[in-house]
Amino acid sequence: MLEKIKQMGQARQVAGEIPIYHRYTLGVAGERFFKAMRDGRQILVSPCPKCQDRLLPPKMYCERCFEETSDDWLPLEGPGYIRSFTVLHQSLDEEPLDHPTVVALISWEGIRGGLIHRVLGVDPAQVTTGMAVEPVWAEERTGALSDISHFRAA
Ligand SMILES: [Zn+2]
Repeated sequence: MLEKIKQMGQARQVAGEIPIYHRYTLGVAGERFFKAMRDGRQILVSPCPKCQDRLLPPKMYCERCFEETSDDWLPLEGPGYIRSFTVLHQSLDEEPLDHPTVVALISWEGIRGGLIHRVLGVDPAQVTTGMAVEPVWAEERTGALSDISHFRAA
Protein backbone atom coordinates (compact mmCIF):
# COMPACT_ATOMS: atom_id res chain seq x y z
CA MET A 1 0.00 0.00 0.00
CA LEU A 2 2.75 2.44 0.85
CA GLU A 3 4.90 2.52 -2.23
CA LYS A 4 7.80 4.89 -2.47
CA ILE A 5 7.30 7.15 -5.46
CA LYS A 6 10.52 7.51 -7.36
CA GLN A 7 9.24 9.51 -10.30
CA MET A 8 6.52 12.18 -10.42
CA GLY A 9 4.64 10.29 -13.14
CA GLN A 10 4.05 7.44 -10.67
CA ALA A 11 1.96 9.59 -8.31
CA ARG A 12 -1.73 8.79 -8.34
CA GLN A 13 -4.02 11.62 -9.33
CA VAL A 14 -7.56 12.26 -8.18
CA ALA A 15 -9.63 14.69 -10.24
CA GLY A 16 -12.04 16.98 -8.43
CA GLU A 17 -12.77 20.46 -7.19
CA ILE A 18 -12.39 22.04 -3.76
CA PRO A 19 -14.73 24.97 -3.13
CA ILE A 20 -12.87 27.79 -1.39
CA TYR A 21 -14.54 31.00 -0.26
CA HIS A 22 -12.78 33.98 1.21
CA ARG A 23 -13.53 37.51 2.27
CA TYR A 24 -11.14 40.36 1.84
CA THR A 25 -11.60 43.18 4.32
CA LEU A 26 -10.76 46.68 3.22
CA GLY A 27 -9.27 47.63 6.57
CA VAL A 28 -9.69 51.02 8.25
CA ALA A 29 -7.92 53.01 5.53
CA GLY A 30 -9.48 51.11 2.65
CA GLU A 31 -12.99 51.53 4.02
CA ARG A 32 -12.56 55.28 4.42
CA PHE A 33 -11.03 55.53 0.93
CA PHE A 34 -13.83 53.65 -0.79
CA LYS A 35 -16.62 55.39 1.18
CA ALA A 36 -15.24 58.76 0.02
CA MET A 37 -15.35 57.56 -3.57
CA ARG A 38 -18.87 56.18 -3.18
CA ASP A 39 -20.40 59.05 -1.20
CA GLY A 40 -18.34 62.04 -2.25
CA ARG A 41 -16.77 61.19 -5.61
CA GLN A 42 -13.42 61.95 -4.06
CA ILE A 43 -10.09 60.19 -4.30
CA LEU A 44 -8.45 60.69 -0.91
CA VAL A 45 -4.79 60.55 0.01
CA SER A 46 -3.30 60.20 3.51
CA PRO A 47 -0.51 62.59 4.43
CA CYS A 48 2.52 61.53 6.44
CA PRO A 49 3.31 64.19 9.08
CA LYS A 50 6.98 63.17 9.19
CA CYS A 51 8.14 62.90 5.57
CA GLN A 52 5.25 64.93 4.10
CA ASP A 53 4.49 62.24 1.53
CA ARG A 54 0.86 61.94 0.51
CA LEU A 55 -0.07 58.32 -0.06
CA LEU A 56 -2.37 56.80 -2.67
CA PRO A 57 -4.03 54.52 -1.92
CA PRO A 58 -4.18 55.99 1.60
CA LYS A 59 -2.56 54.02 4.39
CA MET A 60 -2.63 54.15 8.19
CA TYR A 61 1.18 54.10 8.30
CA CYS A 62 3.77 55.58 6.00
CA GLU A 63 5.70 52.83 4.26
CA ARG A 64 8.77 55.02 3.97
CA CYS A 65 9.25 56.19 7.56
CA PHE A 66 6.71 54.00 9.45
CA GLU A 67 5.03 57.07 10.93
CA GLU A 68 1.28 56.98 11.57
CA THR A 69 -0.38 59.05 8.87
CA SER A 70 -2.49 62.10 9.66
CA ASP A 71 -6.28 61.80 10.02
CA ASP A 72 -6.61 64.87 7.81
CA TRP A 73 -6.93 63.09 4.53
CA LEU A 74 -7.04 65.24 1.43
CA PRO A 75 -8.94 64.89 -1.83
CA LEU A 76 -6.85 64.74 -4.96
CA GLU A 77 -6.91 67.88 -7.03
CA GLY A 78 -5.99 68.43 -10.64
CA PRO A 79 -5.46 65.87 -13.33
CA GLY A 80 -3.69 62.58 -12.99
CA TYR A 81 -0.93 61.63 -15.39
CA ILE A 82 -0.38 58.36 -17.20
CA ARG A 83 2.93 56.94 -16.00
CA SER A 84 2.70 53.62 -17.79
CA PHE A 85 0.08 51.83 -19.83
CA THR A 86 -0.76 48.80 -21.88
CA VAL A 87 -3.33 48.13 -24.58
CA LEU A 88 -5.53 45.08 -24.08
CA HIS A 89 -6.78 43.21 -27.13
CA GLN A 90 -8.24 40.22 -25.27
CA SER A 91 -10.53 39.80 -22.26
CA LEU A 92 -9.44 37.90 -19.16
CA ASP A 93 -11.09 34.89 -20.81
CA GLU A 94 -8.78 35.40 -23.79
CA GLU A 95 -11.69 36.41 -26.02
CA PRO A 96 -10.98 39.17 -28.54
CA LEU A 97 -12.27 42.59 -27.42
CA ASP A 98 -14.50 44.62 -29.72
CA HIS A 99 -12.19 47.59 -29.19
CA PRO A 100 -8.66 47.67 -27.75
CA THR A 101 -8.73 48.97 -24.17
CA VAL A 102 -6.05 51.09 -22.53
CA VAL A 103 -5.18 50.23 -18.92
CA ALA A 104 -2.86 52.73 -17.27
CA LEU A 105 -0.96 53.44 -14.08
CA ILE A 106 -2.09 56.96 -13.16
CA SER A 107 -0.39 59.19 -10.62
CA TRP A 108 -0.76 62.78 -9.45
CA GLU A 109 1.77 65.53 -8.87
CA GLY A 110 3.31 65.26 -5.41
CA ILE A 111 1.53 61.98 -4.58
CA ARG A 112 3.33 58.75 -3.80
CA GLY A 113 1.48 55.85 -5.42
CA GLY A 114 -1.35 55.87 -7.90
CA LEU A 115 -4.22 53.94 -9.38
CA ILE A 116 -4.46 51.44 -12.20
CA HIS A 117 -7.56 51.95 -14.30
CA ARG A 118 -9.03 51.97 -17.79
CA VAL A 119 -8.61 55.03 -20.00
CA LEU A 120 -11.46 55.36 -22.50
CA GLY A 121 -12.40 57.81 -25.22
CA VAL A 122 -8.85 58.04 -26.52
CA ASP A 123 -7.41 56.28 -29.54
CA PRO A 124 -4.92 53.81 -28.01
CA ALA A 125 -2.39 54.86 -30.66
CA GLN A 126 -2.57 58.43 -29.27
CA VAL A 127 -2.00 57.51 -25.61
CA THR A 128 1.37 58.57 -24.22
CA THR A 129 3.05 58.58 -20.84
CA GLY A 130 2.55 61.99 -19.25
CA MET A 131 -0.94 62.38 -20.76
CA ALA A 132 -3.30 64.19 -18.36
CA VAL A 133 -6.45 62.28 -17.39
CA GLU A 134 -9.40 62.73 -15.06
CA PRO A 135 -11.83 60.29 -13.48
CA VAL A 136 -15.32 59.68 -14.83
CA TRP A 137 -17.52 58.59 -11.94
CA ALA A 138 -20.01 55.77 -12.23
CA GLU A 139 -23.63 56.80 -11.69
CA GLU A 140 -24.20 53.94 -9.27
CA ARG A 141 -21.36 53.59 -6.80
CA THR A 142 -20.87 50.73 -4.39
CA GLY A 143 -17.63 51.55 -2.58
CA ALA A 144 -15.26 49.84 -5.00
CA LEU A 145 -12.67 50.89 -7.54
CA SER A 146 -15.41 50.49 -10.14
CA ASP A 147 -16.98 53.65 -8.62
CA ILE A 148 -14.64 55.29 -11.09
CA SER A 149 -16.11 54.16 -14.40
CA HIS A 150 -12.89 55.00 -16.21
CA PHE A 151 -10.49 57.86 -16.86
CA ARG A 152 -10.61 60.18 -19.85
CA ALA A 153 -8.30 62.78 -21.31
CA ALA A 154 -8.33 65.94 -19.16
ZN1 LIG B 1 6.54 59.21 5.93
